[in-house]
Amino acid sequence: MPITLALSKGRIFDDTLPLLASAGIEVLDDPEKSRKLILATNRPDLRVVLVRASDVPTYVQYGGADLGVAGKDVLIEHGEEGLYQPLDLKIARCRMSVAVRADFDYASAVRQGSRIRVATKYTQIARQHFADKGVHVDLIKLYGSMELAPLTGLADAIVDLVSTGSTLKANNLVEVEHIMDISSRLVVNQAALKLRREPVRALIDVFGKAVGA
Ligand code: ATP
Ligand code: MG
Repeated sequence: MPITLALSKGRIFDDTLPLLASAGIEVLDDPEKSRKLILATNRPDLRVVLVRASDVPTYVQYGGADLGVAGKDVLIEHGEEGLYQPLDLKIARCRMSVAVRADFDYASAVRQGSRIRVATKYTQIARQHFADKGVHVDLIKLYGSMELAPLTGLADAIVDLVSTGSTLKANNLVEVEHIMDISSRLVVNQAALKLRREPVRALIDVFGKAVGA
């Protein structure tokens, strides 16, 4: 069995390719053109599987993949237990933030101790953040388009990933708190690390050198 690396389509796949290329590893199919979910590489002992971003930790944890690349956001939300995270790959960088409608006075709502309705896909990160601050919140779980929630009255605030801020701006939202910086990590199955030590270590080294370079 080749070593299996789990990636998600889009920015993680796109940003991981150059790291592999620095060690001469090429993925032989383009996921934007092919419908294949298992992609060969120019190394017969390494293949890539394409999974949903939020499924990468699950594949790696249960051995469906030996290694994977996942955002810190996804790892925290999934739970990090049982996943070895040897490297911050410093790709897909963004930040987790609290944002509100430009006309909502967040600071005074917090000061007054009001209950704040917060819509987010990232309920673990949001729950922990507001608990640390001692702010009372009602969390509303969403799966996408968080920006819409404050505009429709579904919520007072959102917790979402921000990179340039242009999506917030386009929707008349402002960032009021920075929760944490986010980047993608290499995650490794703990059994693979023991049972397939040599090839797994070699691949971790490939990533380590690429990030250092
Ligand atoms: P899905 O599209 O399957 O629901 P997703 O939206 O989390 O999942 P992507 O948009 O590919 O998937 O994001 C993958 C990872 O990239 C995220 O988990 C996050 O760590 C990071 N990311 C998300 N948005 C941005 C952004 N705007 N800029 C940089 N990195 C980002
Ligand atoms: Mg997305």
